[in-house]
This record gives sequence, C-alpha cells and structure tokens, in this order.
Amino acid sequence: SQRGRKKSAKNKLTATGMGADIMMACLPQELLLKRRAEILHALCSGGSVEHLERVIDMLLAQGELGWEDCQNVLVLPEALGDTFFLSGCHSTLDYKEKPQRTSTEELLTQRPDLVLKLQGCIDGALRVLVESGHFSPTDCDGIQLPIYTPSQQARRLLDHVRSKGESASLVVLQYVQQSLESESSLEQTNPSLTKEFVKYQKKLRSSVSAQSRFLSTYGGTSHMPLDDIYTEVQMELPNNSADNYKSMGFEEIIGPVGSVNDDADTVLASGEAGSGKSTWLQRLHLLWSQGKALQDFLLLFPFSCRRLNSEQRDLSVQELLFQHCCWPDRGQEEIFQFILDHPHLVLFTFDGLDELKQSFADEHRICCPSQRAPVDVLLFNLIQGSLMKGVRKVVTSRPEAVGPALKKHLHKEIHLKGFSLSGIDCFVRKHHSDPNEAAKVLESLQANTALLGLCHSPVLCWIVSQCHKELLGCGEGSLQTITDVYLMILQHFFQHHSTVKSAMGVNWLQENLGTVLHLGQLAFEGISNSSYIFSVTDMETCGVTESDICMGFLIQSKDMSLANSKCCEFLHITLQCFLAALFAILSRNTGCSAISKLFELQEMKKKRLRGTCFGACLNSTNIPNIVKEHSTMAETPNLQITATFVSGLLSQRYQKLWIQCSSSVLVEKKTKQAEKCLSKGMQQHFRSIPQPVQGEKKSMHAMPEFVWLIKCIYEMQNSRLAKDAMSKLEAEHLKLTYCNIGPVECTALAYVLQHLKNPVGIQLDNNSVGDVGVEQLLPCMHICNSLYLRNNNITDEGIHKLIDKVIHLQNFQKIALFNNRLTDACTKHFSYLLKTRQNFLSLRLGNNNITAEGAKQLAEGLKFNRSLQYLGLWGNKIGNEGAEALANALENSESIVWLSLVGNGVGSAGACAMSNIIRNSTSLEELWLTENCITRTGVESLTQALKHNHHVKSVWLKNNDLTSAEIEEMQQTDSRLVF
Ligand code: ADP
Repeated sequence: SQRGRKKSAKNKLTATGMGADIMMACLPQELLLKRRAEILHALCSGGSVEHLERVIDMLLAQGELGWEDCQNVLVLPEALGDTFFLSGCHSTLDYKEKPQRTSTEELLTQRPDLVLKLQGCIDGALRVLVESGHFSPTDCDGIQLPIYTPSQQARRLLDHVRSKGESASLVVLQYVQQSLESESSLEQTNPSLTKEFVKYQKKLRSSVSAQSRFLSTYGGTSHMPLDDIYTEVQMELPNNSADNYKSMGFEEIIGPVGSVNDDADTVLASGEAGSGKSTWLQRLHLLWSQGKALQDFLLLFPFSCRRLNSEQRDLSVQELLFQHCCWPDRGQEEIFQFILDHPHLVLFTFDGLDELKQSFADEHRICCPSQRAPVDVLLFNLIQGSLMKGVRKVVTSRPEAVGPALKKHLHKEIHLKGFSLSGIDCFVRKHHSDPNEAAKVLESLQANTALLGLCHSPVLCWIVSQCHKELLGCGEGSLQTITDVYLMILQHFFQHHSTVKSAMGVNWLQENLGTVLHLGQLAFEGISNSSYIFSVTDMETCGVTESDICMGFLIQSKDMSLANSKCCEFLHITLQCFLAALFAILSRNTGCSAISKLFELQEMKKKRLRGTCFGACLNSTNIPNIVKEHSTMAETPNLQITATFVSGLLSQRYQKLWIQCSSSVLVEKKTKQAEKCLSKGMQQHFRSIPQPVQGEKKSMHAMPEFVWLIKCIYEMQNSRLAKDAMSKLEAEHLKLTYCNIGPVECTALAYVLQHLKNPVGIQLDNNSVGDVGVEQLLPCMHICNSLYLRNNNITDEGIHKLIDKVIHLQNFQKIALFNNRLTDACTKHFSYLLKTRQNFLSLRLGNNNITAEGAKQLAEGLKFNRSLQYLGLWGNKIGNEGAEALANALENSESIVWLSLVGNGVGSAGACAMSNIIRNSTSLEELWLTENCITRTGVESLTQALKHNHHVKSVWLKNNDLTSAEIEEMQQTDSRLVF
C-alpha cells in the first residue's frame, strides 16, 4: 500500500476475492488498510502461499513491483499441497501482437498467464530448454524438486529462464504458444475432450510427474531422480507359472494376462515391507506422466492410504479425486461427468492398503458417486467395484492385509519379490556414480552371502549402498542380520550430521541418545496405534526438536489434507519399526512388559484383543498416549518387524553399546524377557503339531509365526536358544510351503534348523528361495533327508552350490525341483551326484528346461547308480533321443520304481527304448508317458515288453498320437496300459 497506486491496487484486490461493492465504497488504499487483517488472511489462507504468489505475479507483470520488492515479500515456500486455485485471471497470451517488446519483457508481462499454462507442461518446457542448450539437467532437477507445487515450479522455471537471457525466454514463449496450438488441434480431432478437460489432464499429469520424479527415501539426504535409480523388481503372477519372475510391463500387469476374475477392476500388487511396492507404483505414475506407459488411461489419480487416514471428513468421489489429487481450475462438473461417462479411460492407484486404519470390509455398499461417505468406505466401494465400475484400480499392500473378502474382488494379484541377483548388481551400479566404488560394494556383498541375501530386499539394498563407506570399513562378514544393517544406517545418518568430534569414551549412540529417544518415542507410539504421519503436536509431545528432524530419518509429508501443518513421516516404515525397537530397549520408562507384549502378539490376536497393543504399557509408564480407537489390521506386521529388531538389538553382541545409554540391569532383564518369550512361542508352536496319521510321518505344517520366531532367534544370534528350541521338535517333516520364504528367511532357518536332533524332510515349495536362498540353506543340509523346492526360482547356479555341499552328506536322499529355471547345465551336477551317492533315492526335475542333452548327462550318472527309485522329468523337452539315453542307462536297473517322462515330446522311438527297461529292469513299477507323441508302433513295443514283466503295475499313455479305435484295441491287450 505504500506505493499508493490506487487503480492497480483495486484490481489486485479482486484476486483475493474481496467483494466489488465494498471497494466502491472507499478508496482502494484506505480499503487495504482497513481490511488489512482480512486481506492478509485471504492471501495466506490455508497455509498456502499460492494466493500471495499469484498477486505478486500480477504486480510484477504490471510493473507495480520490482524484483527486489518481490524478494522482500516472498519467503520460500515449504512443500504444501497444490489444492488452492484462483479464478479471475484471464489475460491472454498475445506477445505476437506486441513485437516491440523483448522476449524477456514478455515473460514478465505475461507472467500470471504463463504460470497457469506452464503448470501443465513443465516437463516439455524443460525438455526444449535442455535441447536448446539453455538448461542443464541440474537446472531441471532444481526446478522439479518435489517440495514445489506445479505453479511454484512454473515460477521457478520463469525466474531461471529470465536469468538465462533473451533467447531462453524466446524458447519458452514459443513452446507455450506451440503447446496451445497443439492443445486446440487435439480438441478439434477429439471433440469429446473439451478445453477444460485437456487443461485438467495436463495439470494432473504435471502434478503426478512432480510427485513421482524423485525417490522419497532420498528426501532426507539428497534427491535421486527415479529414472536414474529405478531397477526392475522380480514379479510373480500366481496361477500362471509360465510368467513367473519375468519382467512385465505395466500394460501387461494391468491387462488381462493372469486374470482370475474378469469382472473385477482391481489389480493388487502385494509384497513385504521394503519389497519396493511404493517405488513400483511411483514408477507407474512417472511413466504415465511422461507419456511412456498406460497412455490408454487419460487420467490417473494417485492416492496414498497413509495420507487418506488423516481425512476426517465424509467425502464424495468427486471431492476425493479433486481435493486429494488435483483440483480443476475450471469445469469441475464437466470433468467429473467425463470420468463417469468414460470409466475405462481412468486409473486410480492406492498405495499401502495395509496402512489404512480400517480393514477391508464389504458391508457398507454405496454406488452413487455424489454420496458422501467416510474415506475408507469410499475406498472399499471403489476397490470392490460398486462405485465407479469400470475404472481400473491398482492397489499395493502387504500380504497380511489381503484377506478372502478382498481377494474375491481382485482382477488379479501379483507378488513383488524384490531384486534378483542381477537386480542387486544393477541397483548398486546405478547408486554409485563411481564404478570403482560400485565394484567394491559388490565385491563385499559377494564375500558375505548373508548380506547378499538381505540385499534382495530393495530397502536393504538401498541402505547397504547408502552406507558403502561403513560397509567397506567394517570388515568382511561382520554384517549378518537386518539389525546390523539398520544400526549401520543409524550410525551413518548421525555421522553425516556430526560436526563436533566425539568426546573421549563417548560412543556415537550415547552422543545422539536424545535424538534416538525422541524419534524412538514418536516411532513407538506411531507403531502402537498405526500412525505413520506425525503432526507438529505429536512431535512436540515426544520432544522431537528441529535438530532431531534434520538428522534425516524424518521426511516432510506431502499430505494435502493436512496443508495447515507441517507433518512428517519416517523415511520408511521399517525405519520407524527400528527406532521404535530402540526406544523399547533404551527407554528407562518402558519395562519388560512392553517386550512381552510385543512377542505375545499372536496370543493377543487369538484372544481377539483389539485396539492398541502396547496401550497398557504405554499408560503404565506415563508416556503421553496419542492412541485412538481403530482396528488392528496394520499393527501385526509392524509389531512383528519391531519385535524382530528388538531381538536383534538385545543380542549379546550389542550389550556393550547399551551400557552407556541405559540401565544395564534393565537391558539385561529385557533380554531375558525376550529370550523367554521366543522360547515359549516356539514351544507353543510345537505343541500344536497334530499326531501323525497312521503310516505317515509326523509332520509340522508351519504357521507364518514360526518363520517370524525363527527370524527373531537369528537376529538375536543366540545359538543356545536355537538349540533349546530344536531339541523339543519331534516332527520328521517340516512343511513350510507358501510361507513367503526368501533368502533372508533361509539364512534364519538354516541357523536354527541346523540344531535339529534327527534328519527331517524340509518342504519349502512355493516360496522365493532362489539361488541365494539355496546357498543360505547349506548350513542345515546335514540334517535334511529330503528337500522340496518346487516353484522357487532356482537356476543351475543354485543347484551347483547345493550339490557341491550335499554330495558329502549321507542323510540327503531326495530332492524335488519341479517348476524352477533349470536347464541342461544343471544335469552334470546331478549326474555327479548319482555317480557318487549310492543311497540317493529320488530326483524330481519336472517342468524345467531340460533337453536331450541334459537327459544324456543324467544317463551318464544313472549308469553308475544303484539306488535311485524315483526319476521325474515331467514337462521337459528330452524327446526321443533323451528317452533313448535314459532307457539305455536304466534298462538293467534294480532300483528304479517310478519313472515319469510325461509331456516330453517322446515318440515311438522313445517308447520302444522304454520297452527295454520294462523288459529288463527288475524294479520298475510305474512308467508315465502321458502327453507325448507315441503312435501305435511304440505302444505295441511296450505291450510286447509287458508280456515278460510282472513287476510293472501301470504304463500311462493318455494323450498320445492314437486313434480311439487303436486305444480300444490296445486296451484289450494289457490292462496295465492306461489310456
Ligand atoms: P515398500 O513400499 O514395499 O515398503 P518401497 O517402495 O518404499 O517399499 O521401497 C523402499 C526403498 O527401497 C525405496 O525407497 C528405494 O530406496 C528402494 N527401492 C525399492 N524398489 C526399488 C526399485 N525398483 N528400484 C530402486 N530402488 C528401489
């Protein structure tokens, strides 16, 4: 108001929404003064500086303010949602009509309009600026930092262009003009897309691009563009084994392949914490916003369930879309109507369903898009399709939150399985710009298989790469457990911020104890009541200071519905669990009861105790409780992860670290308590093993908690506990199928199972063991008599390592490897095994990629083997040649009882060769030749051979090259032929 330009001040005032009638009554300058408080509120309402910036744009454009004035007015904004807009700015871009102005001047005079227009096409504008040599990629990164809203990015772009001079300004002006022209031609070619729709689409695209461009976990330390770091993760499509683990594009994932329910619209991507779900979804968003994937969807609305938790209001779908994702500057109704009319052109994504406070429920149905409802109800109705049918939805979740009620509404479910070995390699190389550094990290991973196993989990791979200095400095093999890795990152962050040299005798933890306890309490309370976003008040309650925040464990939350306050969340949920665990151990206010509560989770679940799991102990220790009422869906997995860290931190190896930081008596008590809980948990598990059915082995079918308990014992590195537990296990067969066992779990299993008293069968079918997992299992192979690894993504390399080990182990007699990724290269190892081990009983290699060459290798071993009873090669490609080689090796066998060559392209020549086994072997009972191409000649040969054989019970010949008349005829010759 000091400038006193009456006319223009009046104009600007309209932008803040002040009524014209008021302005008529008095002079604008007086009015400004009179209504100062109101105007201030209007300019800065909702914590957003957008209004203020818009007014400044106009003042700048009209020369009312100079750049210096602006610098004085503007305080750089924090990350706030772009949920505010102003209408009333209608100036047109007409620089062509005023040729006397320079481009730099045009940039200034058209600023308000350019900001609006650029919002939708920042990516494109930056691209042309880079291509024309005016901007560097670093300039672009600086503009597209996720803390800026699209309009703030546009302003930064304009400011930066201005500093680059006249020709850069011209490039931007021309680009905007061209994109306006192409926009109108798009409207002409596609009349159903109105101008407002196209504008909205651009704004949405740009906002999705801004949100997905950088990887969030780098927020605390540096910004890593997702494009630079993204590494393919392994994927598994259940019920479609042929596609397992191959890399799939987003089109394929969202499309019909592997569909289990064509009526459903929801695709679920599930995976453990840190398996890369959010990053995968972020990649989907980024590729869509860059026009590189899923372009059939004109609109994509990304949601984070974590953020939706803080929405307290009842909303309609329209409000949900526009308020939580992207606000249409104009034409709301029209845009929403388009969405309703064209659901198949729209994609919704929901990240982290497991973090939603309410469990999926199907009870409260709504189908009217204008009906308001609590956000969880809206979400569940969207997922199950009664709302917005036809809109594709992609949801990510941890597996625990996916119950049968949800499953029946899924179009398909894919499992994210972390990095493959080559993925780890690729990630590490992408993470380190210095190739020597990357090579050193990879070398140290190769030297430590336990750590390599951990790196299959992307979040751990990230930590290990991030802490490469600590990793290389700590000596080979010293990092073994997940706790080791998280302690390393803790130390890494502290050292990164440490400016002062530690006082003598003070360890790094003690030096940062205040921060650990503040953040720990925040994390602990959050975990205990499923809170992942923290308000300033939450942080103050736990004593979290600015300097604690600066350490990098917390990042600013981009929660749009909480725009008024500065909210934070932990870099990753696992880091929250880790800090919660540290708090449980170090806080003198948390007693042993907090520890037992953590481990007795399952008990509590059984007793249907709902609400907060540590509610009681928190109250008893006077820690302010921010607990709210809700169900426990998200709690169990996080509490389990926390308990796993507690076990690790209470390991004897770390006791020294705690001495200076807590009461050693208390820590000791907590350690005893944790050991007691683990041992009790194992015993309870063993007690639940049913008595065997007569004639069968006593078998234990492990529950998921079993694997968790085993992991806790491993984290604790407590072999006494492992030994005690295993001495009480009496089963002869351990069934751990579908237990989500990856390399990390294999390490823990081997650590504990190696203490078993008697040899057992270990059944690990349908997990994600992989080659690294196989290597981790080696330490317990001496107590394993049968190993079942069906469907586990194992390659020849894994087999090589396994056989090198088991070749010397007399207990090891059976192996089943159906449906892995084996080729002929593995058969020489099996051949060696067969030659060497004369008590080996069963080899099942079905559904792999073994050809005639592989069969010949196996035959070499079989010639010298006197013990093998079962040989399964179902679903390979050995053909006649392979069958002949095998027949040659087995024709005088006195051990083979069961042989399967089902589905192997075997013709009559192969069948004739098989006849020799029937003729000469004294042991064969069942021969499986179903699904081959055997003709009459082959069957006749088999029939002839059977005439001299009384041991064979059946020869299976279904689905071969025989006519029904031939089948009928031959059935008469020998009843043991099954057609
Ligand atoms: P989740 O959502 O399953 O808990 P995130 O997606 O948050 O896992 O992954 C945790 C961290 O692991 C990420 O912040 C990132 O550092 C790393 N990460 C995950 N997936 C990838 C990937 N595909 N490429 C590169 N880094 C990844």
